[in-house]
Amino acid sequence: MADNRCKLCLVRDIAEKADIYEMVKRTRAMLSDADRAPDELYEKRLGVCTECDGLLAGTCQKCGCYVEIRAAAKAAHCPISRW
Ligand code: SF4
Repeated sequence: MADNRCKLCLVRDIAEKADIYEMVKRTRAMLSDADRAPDELYEKRLGVCTECDGLLAGTCQKCGCYVEIRAAAKAAHCPISRW
């Protein structure tokens, strides 16, 4: 069986992590409008993560978070200040 995991993928891009992506979406939806990062900012942050050596199949190796959850909160920041 081929290993199709991608080091620089987000969980939304990994079929085997569909259940985790559902949790990511629920978590993001639970944030208030005031606390949730706007879509443009969210995608900009995730774009930085997908070009970062710290990303490992959706998880940030610097902090252990799923980056799609970390990036969802407006006040959140990258642990090494990339965003
Ligand atoms: S949160 Fe920061 S350190 Fe972690 S993967 Fe994203 S850019 Fe890299």
